[in-house]
Amino acid sequence: MSCAKESELDKLRSEVLEVTKEILRLIARRQSLCVEVGKLKQAKGLSIEDPSIERALREAITKEALNLGIEKDFAQKLTTLLIEECTKVQPKPPERKVLTHRDIARMAEALERQGVKVIRMDVGEPDFRAPNTVVERAYQEMKAGRSRYTEPKGKQELRQAIADYVKMRYGADVRADQVIATVGGAFGVYLALASTVSPGDEVIVIDPSWPIYKPCVRYVGGRPIVLETRLEDGWEPDLDKLNEKISAATKAIILNYPCNPTGKALDKKTFKGIVEIAQDRKLTLISDEVYADYNFTGSEHNTVLNYPDVNYVLISSFSKSWGMTGFRVGFTISDLDRTNKMATIQSTLITCIPEFIQYAAIEALKCLDEAKKNSEVMKDRAEAVCKALKPLPLTFYKPDGAMYVFPRIDVKGVDGSEFAVKLLENKNVSVAPGGAFGNYFNYFRISLGQPKEVLLEGVKRIGEFLSSMS
Ligand code: PMP
Repeated sequence: MSCAKESELDKLRSEVLEVTKEILRLIARRQSLCVEVGKLKQAKGLSIEDPSIERALREAITKEALNLGIEKDFAQKLTTLLIEECTKVQPKPPERKVLTHRDIARMAEALERQGVKVIRMDVGEPDFRAPNTVVERAYQEMKAGRSRYTEPKGKQELRQAIADYVKMRYGADVRADQVIATVGGAFGVYLALASTVSPGDEVIVIDPSWPIYKPCVRYVGGRPIVLETRLEDGWEPDLDKLNEKISAATKAIILNYPCNPTGKALDKKTFKGIVEIAQDRKLTLISDEVYADYNFTGSEHNTVLNYPDVNYVLISSFSKSWGMTGFRVGFTISDLDRTNKMATIQSTLITCIPEFIQYAAIEALKCLDEAKKNSEVMKDRAEAVCKALKPLPLTFYKPDGAMYVFPRIDVKGVDGSEFAVKLLENKNVSVAPGGAFGNYFNYFRISLGQPKEVLLEGVKRIGEFLSSMS
C-alpha cells in the first residue's frame, strides 16, 4: 500500500474512533437525563417502565433510522439497549427477596437429610415411573451398543415416530426433518429462543410463568416484556393489552398452555386471537406444550400445530406425560429453516441426545394408554385438591390442565416466600412461592406430583397453618 493511501486509512480510522467517543459522550448525557427523569418519576409516584413512552420513542427512532439510511432492526436493538441502561440508572424501590421452588426444595431436602418426612408439593415433577417397556428398551439398546452419537436432530426413526404421533393426534402434517429430539422441553425452549432472538430483541412472556423463560430470554441477549394476567380474569390474557406490549423490537411471544403455574388452558377463540396477532405483527409463537396431555376439560388441546401458517416453534416433552423427567427427552417442531438453525445450535452445544434414550422415546410413543392413565390420575388429584382447598382462606382458579393449583392467600399482609418457609418449618409441607412466577407475591403453587392421600394430608396441614396465622 502506498504511503498516501496508508495515511488516508489512518485518518479515517481516527475519525471512526472520534465518532465512537462522541457516541459514548452522548450516551453519558442520555444517562444523566435518565437519572433526572427517574427522580421526577419517583417524586410523582410513577413506575419506571412506561410502555407508551417507549412505544413513542421507538416509532420516532424507526423514522429517524429511515431518514439516515440505518437498518430499522439495528436501530431498534440499539434502542432496547439504551432503554435497559436507562432503567438501570433510575432510582427504584429495593428489590424484593424472592424464593423459588428450588430454594424451598433445597430447604426441604435439608430437613429430609435430618430424617424429617416432608410432604413435597414444591417441584413440578410427576411421581409416575416411566412405562416398563420404555425402561426395558433403553436397557436393551444400551446393552446392544446403541450408545453412539447420532445426527444432531436425532435418529430419523424417532423423528418419524414423532411426526406420525402429531399427525395421529392433531392431524398435523409435519415432516421428520422438522423435528428435533431435545434434552427435555427445557432445552427446546433454549433452542427456540436462541434461533429467534438476538441481542436487543424483545420477547413477550405471559405472567405468571414458568420461571425459566425470562432468564432464558436474557441468556440470548433479549429483553423479556411481561404481559400480566389476573386471577380475577380467570388468567385469561387480554389481547388488546398483548397488542400494546408488542413493539418494533418484538420478535416472539412465549405461550404455555396448559400453564405452569396456573393450570389455565386457552379456549380456541383466545388461542386463535393470539395466533392472528402473531401473524399480523410477524412474530414467532414459541409454544411450550409440555402439559398437552394433562388436559382436564375434555375439550381438545389447543395447539400451535393447528395453525401451520404462523411462524412457530412447538416445544413438547416426554417428562410429564410418561413420567420420564430423568430421561431428559423432549422435542421441537418448527419450519425447516428454523429447525436446521436449532439443529446447528444443538450440534454445537451437545452434539445430540443419547442414542438409547432416543429408542426409549420411540417406545414411549407406543404407550399412549399409559399417558392417558397418567392424565386421568392427575385430573383426579386436581379435583380432590381443589375440593379440599375450597373451605380455606384461599382463592384459586380450578385448573383446566397441567399439574398445579396456584392459590392466592387471602390473609392480609402475607408474603408467599415467607409463607412457604414457615409452612415448611411448622408443618413440613413444601410449596413453591408465587413470587418466582412473576408479580404474584401473595400466591403459592401446589404441585400435584404426589399420590392423592399425600396431597390431601398436605392441604390439611396448609389449612391448619392458615388458621394459626389469622
Ligand atoms: N416447560 C414447562 C412449562 C415446565 O413446567 C417444564 C418442567 N417443569 C418444562 C418446560 C421442562 O421440562 P423437561 O425439560 O423435563 O421436559
